Amino acid sequence: MENKQAKRRIVLVPVPAQGHVTPFMQLGQALSSKGFSITVAQGQFNCVSPPQGFPGFQFVTIPESLPESELKRLGMVEFAIKHNKTNEASFKNCIAQLLLQHGNDISCIIYDESMYSCEAAAREFNIPSVIFTTTSATNHASRCVFSKLNAERFFSDIEGALNHSLMAYHPELKEKVVENLYPLRYKHLLPSGLGPLEPLLELRREVVNKRTASAFIINTSSCLESSSLSWLQQELRIPVYSLGPLHITALASSSLLKQDRSCLEWLNKQKPRSVIYISLGSMAHMETKEVLEMAWGLSNSNQPFLWVTPNGDDGIELFSEELSKMVSERGYIVKWAPQTEVLAHPAVGGFWSHCGWNSTLESIAEGVPMICRPFHGEQKFNAMYIESVWSVGIQLEGEVERGQVERAVKRLIVDEEGACMRERALVLKEKVKASVRAGGSSYNALDELVKYLKTG
Ligand code: UDP
Repeated sequence: MENKQAKRRIVLVPVPAQGHVTPFMQLGQALSSKGFSITVAQGQFNCVSPPQGFPGFQFVTIPESLPESELKRLGMVEFAIKHNKTNEASFKNCIAQLLLQHGNDISCIIYDESMYSCEAAAREFNIPSVIFTTTSATNHASRCVFSKLNAERFFSDIEGALNHSLMAYHPELKEKVVENLYPLRYKHLLPSGLGPLEPLLELRREVVNKRTASAFIINTSSCLESSSLSWLQQELRIPVYSLGPLHITALASSSLLKQDRSCLEWLNKQKPRSVIYISLGSMAHMETKEVLEMAWGLSNSNQPFLWVTPNGDDGIELFSEELSKMVSERGYIVKWAPQTEVLAHPAVGGFWSHCGWNSTLESIAEGVPMICRPFHGEQKFNAMYIESVWSVGIQLEGEVERGQVERAVKRLIVDEEGACMRERALVLKEKVKASVRAGGSSYNALDELVKYLKTG
């Protein structure tokens, strides 16, 4: 990197979605505490609006980015592809303006792995670039393996493989573990729950292509995913910095929605470790039938519950009088909660989660065991780790049914099995906290990244 000593500005480019914006703002805070100036380049929606606890940060809007209505129309995958196409020229203009404004003082562009079109601006202006993946190391590794196999035409009829099961085509692979990535098996690699296949394959090809990026950042800790991290280190052949969980050291919240803090007062009135907290993240949507079954199961469990429903009532208005009465006696419903504070509250005994990576890290960092209800591939890997590798949760599979919900809540909050999971969760909590403290692996990785950004 040329004239690095003088260059101190980092441009961060997140994907405009809560689960991506949050870790980017946490990374910004970490780098700012090490003396860098931060510019956040964002699209026109799901923007972090200053001032929001980020003193000194510059926020710029990438002009002509796609409107939010396109996300609703196209779905996540096709939106990401189109967003990158429109973003390329627009982002180049944005960087040109920033270079003028800051007298060429841009040390590096750190972009979300799904904002791969940023690389064109980095190349054009000869600015080093670094990729940040906001998902788990295991998820990124699985995409690399899948894309390689796909490029080698391994899945010769992938639609067929998806429709009629991979095993029919490659029966020898049924339970085979992917080399050096235990417990990932070949059957886990096929994408699920993300819509049409062709756009997904295109997006994956782009996301795993590291182009000219010179390093890779992951929001994870080596105490959580050491085998996947070693695998990536070998495979990517550029430095991999695992700095997480970043939220532990972040001071400001980057919630895009207004958090309803009244639930903390409600929690104050509940018994220690008695409450099940339910949140399925910012994107997931449940069918009305499932919402009803869940409400019955939660009420029948006799445990108090705090339930986040960001998309409005999600069928709650369809509750019968009897169910509404039970829910209001035992439960508390909010549209958006201060999640990290909720998980840290002594009344919370378990977390029913869709297993988004941020939620997974936040739960681990508070030692809260989980009920896992993942919707698609990445979340399924996280659920697999929660249940089978770290042994701090249980998975709920198949259709949601009230009896199964009631049993799962009791297993987690009331039974001996749940107490054992909680003990393991507390041990894991101490390990991840130690990794971000002075001398820990994530703490050291941040120092190494800083050195790298300053001196190359
Ligand atoms: N979150 C929150 N309040 C809520 C629910 C979620 O602040 O009521 C935050 C949560 O703390 C996490 C993020 O939203 O940081 C969700 O990210 P995740 O990766 O878990 O899921 P996604 O929304 O990307 O599917």
